[in-house]
Amino acid sequence: MIIKEVQCKSILTKSNLPEVEYCINPYIGCTHNCVYCYASFMKRFTGHTDEDWGDFLDVRVNSVEVLKKQITSKKKRGDILIGSVTDSYQPIENKYRLTRQILEVLGGKGFPVSVLTKSDLVVRDIDVLKKIEDCEVGLTITSLGEGISRIFEPGASIPLKRVNALRVLKENGIRTYAFIGPMLPGITQIEEIVKALEGKVDFVMFETLNLNKVNRERTLKAFLKAGVAFSPNSINWGEVEKKARRICGEYGIPVKGFYKH
Ligand code: SF4
Repeated sequence: MIIKEVQCKSILTKSNLPEVEYCINPYIGCTHNCVYCYASFMKRFTGHTDEDWGDFLDVRVNSVEVLKKQITSKKKRGDILIGSVTDSYQPIENKYRLTRQILEVLGGKGFPVSVLTKSDLVVRDIDVLKKIEDCEVGLTITSLGEGISRIFEPGASIPLKRVNALRVLKENGIRTYAFIGPMLPGITQIEEIVKALEGKVDFVMFETLNLNKVNRERTLKAFLKAGVAFSPNSINWGEVEKKARRICGEYGIPVKGFYKH
C-alpha cells in the first residue's frame, strides 16, 4: 500500500450526479478495493497509471483549510455528497480525521449533506453529524455474507457491521439509507437484506451491476471464486426491479431510486 500526503487546490467540487450540487472527496484511491468499483478509472487522471486500484491512497491533507476558504456566505447553497468517487471513511481516516473535520466545518452552513460509505467508522462522527441541520448517511450493502463480502469488497467493513452502523445512526436521530448496489446476480438476496434493514433505514436505493472494461475481468473472477455462475446478458433487471419494489413495499421501506445501467 502506497500512502502519500498531497495538497489539493479545491475540495468542494461541482458534481455531475443528478440531485447533487457538490462532491467532497478527501482521499484519492480506495483501500476498500471492491472488485466492481467504477471509480478506478480515476487512476488515469491522478497519476496512478502504474498502480492497481486498492494499492494506493492519496491523503489530501489540506482539505479542511481549502474547504473553509471555499464555503463562503456567497457560495451557492446545494446538496453535498461526501464520498462520491472514493470512500471518505478509509481505515486511515482513523488517523487523519479529515472527514470528521470536514463535517465539523459544514455544521451550520446551510448545505444539505449526504455521506455514503461502506465503513462503520462513520458511527464515530455521530456527534458532528447531528450538528448538520439537513444530513443523511447511507451504507452500501450488496450482501449479508462475510465470506462473499471478503471476495467482492475485501477492504470494507463486513456487512453486519454496516447494518449495525445504520441501526446506531438511526437510533441517534440521523436520517439513514441503504444503497443496495451494485446488485450481484445470484448473490444479492434482496429480501434477506431488506428484512435486515427493517426499522434501521428511512429509505433504500438500488443499482444494477454495471460491467465495463474497467471492472469486468475482476468482477467475473470474483463470481467464479464465490462459486456463482453468472452470465451477464441473462439478467432481466425489469423483473428484479419489480421484485425489489414489491419486497420493500411489504416491509414499508420507501424506494428512492432504482438505477439501471
Ligand atoms: S468503497 Fe466505493 S470507491 Fe471504494 S473501492 Fe468500493 S466501490 Fe470503489
